[in-house]
This record gives sequence, structure tokens and C-alpha cells, in this order.
Amino acid sequence: MHPEDLIEAHFRVTKDQKAALKRLSLNTIQDILWHFPVRYQSMAESSQAAHLVPGNTVTLFGQLTKLEAKRLWKSRRPATQGWFEDGTGRVKVMWFNQPYIAKMVPQNTPIKLSGAVSGSEKSPYITNPEIESVAADAIPEPLLNMQGGEQEAEHTLFPVYPESRGVTSKWFYHTMKRILTSGVLEELEDVIPPHVAKQYNLPRLSSALVYIHAPKDARDAEGARKRFAFEEIFVIQVAKQKERALNNTQEALPVVVDDEKIAAFIDTLPYPLTGAQARAVNEILGDFAKQHPMARLLEGDVGSGKTAVAAATSYAVVTSRPAGRSAGTLQVAYMAPTEILSSQHFQSFIEMYRELPINIALITGSGCYKFPSKLNRERPTKISRAQMLKWVANGEIAIVIGTHALIQKSVEFQNLAYVIVDEQHRFGTAQRKALAKKGEAVPHFLSMTATPIPRTLALTIYGDLDISVLDELPPNRASVETKIVSPKERELAYETVREEIEKGRQAYVICPRIEEPDPGKAMALRVKSARAEAKRLQKEVFTDYKIGLMHGKLKPKEKDEVMDKFNAGEIDVLVSTSVVEVGVNVQNATSIIIEGAERFGLSQLHQLRGRVQRSSHKAHCFLFSDAKMKESRDRLRAMADTSNGFALAEADMMLRGMGDFYGRKQWGISDLAMEALKNARLIEAARKEAQAIVAKEPELADYPALAKRAEHLAELFHDE
Ligand code: ADP
Ligand code: MG
Repeated sequence: MHPEDLIEAHFRVTKDQKAALKRLSLNTIQDILWHFPVRYQSMAESSQAAHLVPGNTVTLFGQLTKLEAKRLWKSRRPATQGWFEDGTGRVKVMWFNQPYIAKMVPQNTPIKLSGAVSGSEKSPYITNPEIESVAADAIPEPLLNMQGGEQEAEHTLFPVYPESRGVTSKWFYHTMKRILTSGVLEELEDVIPPHVAKQYNLPRLSSALVYIHAPKDARDAEGARKRFAFEEIFVIQVAKQKERALNNTQEALPVVVDDEKIAAFIDTLPYPLTGAQARAVNEILGDFAKQHPMARLLEGDVGSGKTAVAAATSYAVVTSRPAGRSAGTLQVAYMAPTEILSSQHFQSFIEMYRELPINIALITGSGCYKFPSKLNRERPTKISRAQMLKWVANGEIAIVIGTHALIQKSVEFQNLAYVIVDEQHRFGTAQRKALAKKGEAVPHFLSMTATPIPRTLALTIYGDLDISVLDELPPNRASVETKIVSPKERELAYETVREEIEKGRQAYVICPRIEEPDPGKAMALRVKSARAEAKRLQKEVFTDYKIGLMHGKLKPKEKDEVMDKFNAGEIDVLVSTSVVEVGVNVQNATSIIIEGAERFGLSQLHQLRGRVQRSSHKAHCFLFSDAKMKESRDRLRAMADTSNGFALAEADMMLRGMGDFYGRKQWGISDLAMEALKNARLIEAARKEAQAIVAKEPELADYPALAKRAEHLAELFHDE
């Protein structure tokens, strides 16, 4: 057996298993080895009917018996009652208000049951559990052994693998046993340098693989998991540090920073900069003065004023003359993720640059605009794409704002010196270099994000960037009052919103996130729920007001139309899926209702709340929720009590766990490493070691296995 051998070369797999392995992207022996258990089931734990602890949420394997529909004695409410049994004992189960369940769920056949345990330790019961039929061989082996009373089972940890229809944990358990004892481990190369492993007491690769798949005890498993988390973060850091080292070998176009000019520009803004904005501007100007291109992240909560930082620093660029020339200026490209945002940035820039002799353009999929218009200095004008490309290429247009259309091959700049990217996570040195095309210079790079993420995650995914933080909101922002609203209190919330509309304000209603493994289906369901809710609200709640509908299935043009109407005040209540989440700025909106609030991550709720934190009017955020689980309620309470996005991101990480962290897939990090982000010391150690190794020898000639893995990872980053 060799690591790169196909699984089928050594194991007989059925058609279903084959499909399942494919779904999990498991092709080779090596793939299987890196398919780690999500957890371990120990018989000492609460996975037995005989040892249930009220308050816990459990998953049990066994069967249902004696189900019957009946009426509850006191309330006369209909219910279904019966028993769940496994090898260890039995527990009462009940479904309220669902008398038909008795006929629907399978009895006396293997099932998986999940639910919360109620009652007392002596007589626990489970209400409204979820049931799923399972194949007999999906029942964890120890449960089958239990009746025999095997001593060994008490101490053994059984690995539980990520679920997929077709391959069970039991299959992995047996397959893994054969792989682990085949000798193949000796052929694997450890990417963690021996001196690093030694310093942090990390098991070497071959032992760690045994410990993670077949641990003797919890400590073995823990040590192995820690090692693989370290390995993953370490390799990411090495790739990032290499990217940074590459950046630092490049030349930038010299931007002349004239402090007085910049101060004069800032004076023309309708407000003084906050301390945090001024600091960020200075950090960026400081980078401009260096020989190598800037690579910086600007992190700032929604409404912290990142656009002004972008505008003030762009000003330094567009008032700099290209070296050796007597006319023209350096250029700025400012990229945003959506058309709505691009046109908002265009508007903001027009306001800030109104009095200046600088041409600004907007380019999106639906057309190009230039400001000022030749005929009317007050307004932008629509221009053809060809015209626009010409003016960008000859340098007449100094600032180009746009969507992805901005980085299409046909857009050529004269002297691109500064690239600003809003809410977009990857944009490597090579990509920036390609964008500038001409000559050797690489543009300065500023990535901006309002996505509050925990510090350890920022250090990992932005390991190649310097970080500036806007940790201060502009003054005179009225705070947002956040309320958790139970189903009974909804009418009160609606009343407040109606009062706000009467005052001339506007509102958002956000329809819930829908959990659905198939993204396409989830989108369809969300659209459906937003549509239905808009109808209901019009009919029952906001009868006298104009309601608009916004969702991800609208065409870009339709979205713009809706947003234009909302902007212009022609829509009072905008019912939307969470597509309004990123950066939309309608200052007159002062209330937001979020349906099914418990289904969103705190960071996402915070982003949504930011929609109504744009003005000096007092604002309201209503979190509609019928969640009874303590965890959900705790999270919503954190939301009501805290207005700091970064604090909420940390809370999200601690309360929900990184596995659930909003948008985790977008970070490209495994669940195992996500979990390790709670461990700040591990993250910092991985970063420190990666820095040391790359600083000494960026090509990693002494560490071929590590070099290969980092290279592979860098390719993945750039494919996105
Ligand atoms: P972000 O992009 O960080 O979410 P914006 O740049 O859209 O925030 O700014 C939000 C609002 O705050 C805008 O209306 C902007 O004009 C205003 N603003 C920015 N900086 C200040 C400041 N220093 N004082 C007062 N208002 C500000
Ligand atoms: Mg913004």
C-alpha cells in the first residue's frame, strides 16, 4: 500500500460507498488518512439511554417501541408517547401536538434519535426528538457490545467521522485499522520541521495519525488533534509569509506624500476624521513612502468610515506625478463586490472630490460613468465602455471604481499605483502585478473589511498583510437599541416600526437564513420566504406603506432598481434576504427586524444591525426569535448587550464554536483548525515559527515537504 494508491486498489467498495467517498473527495489512501474524526464516542459519555443527563442534547442509537397517540391528562393536548431503547436501557419519548407521529416513525427498527433531555436524572424524558432511520451497521459497535458487558468498551474511544450517506463511521474505523497497520505511514513525509515539533511537544506524523484515528485515550486524541491543527495553521502561515516575502522584493511606484495637501483635503470633508481614521491614514501614507508596495488590511466595523480613509489616501496618489513625466498622475483602482456598493462608493467619492480637477469613473457590468461630465460639472455622465477604456489607458481618468469588471483583461491603466479592494479576501502580489501590467512596479494594496473576525483568524488568513483597525465609530451616532422579541411581542415591535415610518423613516425586514445543505435549494427557499413575508406584511402589518422586495435571485439591474427606490424613499419597508448584509448605506433607515435571529451568527447579525447605524437618528434592531435553547438565548443576549463587532466575533467563537462560525467555508480552513483558533498561543506559535523559517530561507530548500505543501496551498488561494 502506498499513500497515493486509489482506495479501491486495496478495499472492496460498494457502489454507494464509492459515491459517498467521491462526495467527500476521498480518492487515495492519503486522502483517507487525512479524513479526521469529528469527535469520539466514549461509553462513559451520555450516548446511552441508561445514563442521560437532563439539559444535555444527545444523539442515541437504538429503536422506538410502544408508540401511541393520546391526550395529555391535564391540558388534553394531543401527543404521541412511547419508549426509546438501546442496549443499555430505555427512556420515555414524547411529541406534543403531533398525534400522527405514532403512525409515521419507524418502530422496532434501527434509528438515530437526537434531542434535548428533560425531566430529572431519575426519570428523564425526551420531547420532540428528531428521528432518522439508519442502517443496522451504522450503530456504533460499542453499543452492540454493551450487552455482553465487555470491560474494554468502557475505556475505548470510538472515532465518529463526518457523516455521509453511504460510508459509516464503522466502515472508516475498520478501513483505517488496516491502513494504519499496513506500513504505509512510513512513506509519509512530515511537514513540521523536527526542531519545531520538539519545541512544542508535538507528536511526529506517523504517531499522530494513529492517535487521531485510533486513540487509546482522550489525551492521545487531543495531542494528535492539536498537532494537525498546528500543522495546518503553520503551513498557511508559511504560504502567507512567502507571499509577503515576494511582495517585499517588488518595487512600488513612488507616491509623493505631501502632508499639507492631504491635510487640506481632509479639511474639506464635512467632518473631522476620528482618531482611528487619522491613524489608519497615517499608517497608509507611511507605507507609500516605502520602496516596496504596501500590503495592508483595513479592518473596521460597519459605519466606521473606511470610505473616507480610502478617499484621503487616494488623494495622495492622484496628486502624484509619475516619475520622469511632466503631466498626468498616478492612478487608483477601487474594487467592490457588488454593483450597489460600487455605485455607492462612486457617489461618496464624487462628493469628496467635487471641487477637485480629478476624473473619477465607475465601471460595472451594466455600464460606465464618468465624473465630472464635460457639460455639467455637478454630475456624472454615462460613457461608452470603449471611451472609458481609452481614458483609463491614457491616464485621463485617475480613479476607477467598479466591480470585478474592473480587473478584466481589457482594462489597461497608464500608471496604476494603488489598488483598494472592499470585502474581497484574496488578491495576491501576482494578481496585482498583472493588473498594473506595465513595467515592473506592483501597486500598493489596501484590502478593506467590515467582517469582524476574531484576532486569531485575522492573523491566520491575513498573515501576509499588515493590519490597521478602525476601532472607533464617528461621534454623534445614535446608538441602536437592540431587543429580543418573542412571538407574543411582535405586534409591539411592528408598532414601533410604524411610528418610525410615520416620522418619515424607513425599515428593513430580514427573512431568516434557511439551513439546507444544497445552496441552490436554500436560496430558492429564502426567496420564497421573503416573497411570502412581503405579501403578509403588506396585507396584515404595514397596510398603508410601500413594501419592496430584495433577494439574491434578482438580476443586478433589478437589484439596483429596488435599491434606488429605497434610497429615494419610494419604498418604506424593504423585505429582504440577507443580501443587504454587505455595506448598503441608506441613512434614512432606522429600524431593522430580523426574523429567525437565532439562526444567524453574531457577526452576521451585527452586520445586519449596521444597516440602521448610519445616521444620527435613534435606531431599533428587533431580533425575532422563539428559540428556547439556553445557548441561543445567550448568544442573542450578547448581541443586545454589545455593539462592538470584534467583541461579538470573539463571543461567537467562544459560544458557538468555530465549527459554526459564520461563513467558515469562505476562509478555507478545516473544522479542526477552526477549533484551534480558540487557542491564541497555538496560533501565535505557528506564526512565529513560520516567520522564522521563511525569513531565513524563503525558498525552503531545507524543507522540501513543507515547500511542496505551502506551494500547493498558495495555488489554492489564487484559484479562488
Ligand atoms: P464603512 O465603509 O466603514 O462601513 P462608511 O465609509 O460608509 O463606513 O461611512 C459611514 C458613514 O459615516 C458615511 O455616511 C460617512 O459619511 C460617515 N463618516 C465617515 N467618517 C466620519 C467622521 N469622521 N465623522 C462623521 N461621519 C463620518
Ligand atoms: Mg464600506
